[in-house]
Amino acid sequence: MDMVVRTNRAPSAGETLMGQAFALSPGGKGANQAVAAARLGAEVSMIGRVGKDTFGSEMLEIIKQEGIHIEHISVSETEATGVASIVIEEDGENRIIVVPGANIDLFVEDIQALETVISQAEMIVMQLEMELAMSEHAIAIAHRHGIPVILNPAPARVFKDKMLSQISYLTPNETEAGILTGMTVDSLETAEQAARILLQKGVKNVIVTLGSKGALIVNAEGAKSVPGFPVKAIDTVAAGDSFNGALAQQLVLGKTLEEAVNFANAVGALAVGKEGAIPSLPQLSEVEQFLK
Ligand code: ADP
Repeated sequence: MDMVVRTNRAPSAGETLMGQAFALSPGGKGANQAVAAARLGAEVSMIGRVGKDTFGSEMLEIIKQEGIHIEHISVSETEATGVASIVIEEDGENRIIVVPGANIDLFVEDIQALETVISQAEMIVMQLEMELAMSEHAIAIAHRHGIPVILNPAPARVFKDKMLSQISYLTPNETEAGILTGMTVDSLETAEQAARILLQKGVKNVIVTLGSKGALIVNAEGAKSVPGFPVKAIDTVAAGDSFNGALAQQLVLGKTLEEAVNFANAVGALAVGKEGAIPSLPQLSEVEQFLK
């Protein structure tokens, strides 16, 4: 659950400010990605865990209303539902602290038990708002069954090369691409260099998201920049998540990677044009209208 504070500017250390507004807004990377794909027409099952609290029941209800299968979202007896404290400044810039709570109460055995579900999927979409061991395990299962994995490496962490070699689509933003490779990524050139390092480690396709500039695809065929769509940014929360959900849905439909990224750029642009995480995710009809 996102707890969103709007302010003219973020406070410095030790400073107290009066903010403009506060709102509770459903979010979380996994939920955002699942809802993004579902709103575009994909059949989605979500694996995860919430706490035995009001935020948990509210999140389950919201996700269920999107038509997402929730049988594999369990309830933790001990940990609270994951929350994010989000501060949004006047210019739309955000600062976020995530407290994962129940998300890190999910264990390797839980994922092991879900091998049947994972093996029946056409695509697995994952992020890193849980224990790294969980991501590694789920990716290994998918790899064993020959199922493509989209990993959105956020929040950024450095992980083993073995895990990288099992990923079909890695989707860092510039900051994350920098952390994964230990270099500064702030241009198309440096994004491509970082992507090439990741390709050498075995990732099949690297898609570096570049905010308003769109995204850069780098794979064995070369590098291809796919420009973004100009919009007025209201709130960039969930831009990357909406991009990943859309990418998954489009690839499952059989679109080429470039077509899928172009569509995902449109979905990302629509998401930054509205406030909130889940509330900002577009329906298929809105994207079709936008692309006309
Ligand atoms: P993250 O949200 O993970 O930091 P980005 O900022 O790169 O990732 O945004 C993800 C995608 O959302 C971009 O590749 C782009 O398609 C879209 N997007 C983000 N910001 C904007 C913007 N200001 N204008 C248009 N599209 C945007």
